Amino acid sequence: MIEDITGPQDLQAMYDSVIEKDSKYVMQTYGRQPLVLSKGRGALVQDIYGKEYIDCVAGIAVNNVGHCHPTVVRAIQAQAEKLLHVSNLYYTEIQAELAEALVSVTGMERVFFCNSGAEAMEGAMKLARIVSGKSAFVAAEHSFHGRTIGALSVTHKSMYRDPFMPPVSSETTFVPYSDANTIRQAISGNTAAVILEPIQGEGGVNIPNPEYLKEVREICDETGTLLIFDEVQTGFGRTGTWFCKEQFGVEPDVMCMAKAIGGGFPMGALAARGEISFSRGQHASTFGGGPLACAAALASIEAIKEESLLKRSTENGTYFMGKLRSMDREDIVEVRGKGLMIGVEIKYPCSKFVDFAREYGVLLNCTSDSVLRLVPPLVITKDQIDTVVDVIEQA
Ligand SMILES: *Cc1c(COP(=O)(O)O)cnc(C)c1O
Repeated sequence: MIEDITGPQDLQAMYDSVIEKDSKYVMQTYGRQPLVLSKGRGALVQDIYGKEYIDCVAGIAVNNVGHCHPTVVRAIQAQAEKLLHVSNLYYTEIQAELAEALVSVTGMERVFFCNSGAEAMEGAMKLARIVSGKSAFVAAEHSFHGRTIGALSVTHKSMYRDPFMPPVSSETTFVPYSDANTIRQAISGNTAAVILEPIQGEGGVNIPNPEYLKEVREICDETGTLLIFDEVQTGFGRTGTWFCKEQFGVEPDVMCMAKAIGGGFPMGALAARGEISFSRGQHASTFGGGPLACAAALASIEAIKEESLLKRSTENGTYFMGKLRSMDREDIVEVRGKGLMIGVEIKYPCSKFVDFAREYGVLLNCTSDSVLRLVPPLVITKDQIDTVVDVIEQA
């Protein structure tokens, strides 16, 4: 349990003031839940009234090690005493250590550090272009790769994409997900890379058929096309292995990471295998691989190892999906997932579930209109899972 908050007695006034300031001073881009959150521990978050919620959103697959994991918090505190920021014109020990750790968990050769998922995708697209000398991309329908102009140009959802057209890369071909033949047809002499999420997150927790990624790998090898995996959402134990690529036994040429990488601290990275690399001056980021982010990411990797969170993700996921499936309700189309990346597809829009569950102390996310996306911290307990399933059933 999270200790009680102390603070102004008039919590309603505090709540109103936060909402008012946000509506006045923040660009209104988010459809926010009526919640002002102030604390978190493990799989729980607390609002300013002291009400607790089991967090099945986890910052959208960010807080894999749980909120405010003590190892991560201590590492950030210790690093903050030493050095907050230093330019990539210099070396730091912590960045070198994290690079080694990331190469070890990804099985890739080298990494580049940045600050977010979209930025990792931008870097991957630049890398693919510079390495291949080609400029076009093949991406999947229902894909999501981020909100910057480059990442948007390989993101499929029209609501995100259309208002900002034309894209920087007008040369993206979208193909149906989980159908390798369409990729073969879409690759042209100018295709730099095929870009795929190994499981689509935003698109509705879509799991490809087991052979899909292998077939895509073969097609890319035959045609000399680079394969980029966007593991921003699927990474760091989310699906039960360090990365989702392991679930399918397929190695990409380049992979994007962000979300859970820093245990809650903002960071992004891309990794590439073999000789695939930027050379001097081809890419840069002021904050990329900064000391605080690196300290947080190293600590988060350590926590995943120490607490066997990969195993826990698989076990919890199996338990969670088993309970969800045993509900056996007619309005549930399908329960699907790997590890603790779970989608519950409902026959109708699921936003009402989100409101109901919030009242009963569970935070849920609804994506693609009718899919409840359950991506709780990997440290969630079986008791908490039981509560979540109860609340979903009541909803
Ligand atoms: C969230 C997400 C991104 C974008 O990450 P940001 O940090 O929000 O830029 C890219 N790809 C996938 C698969 C994501 O889930």
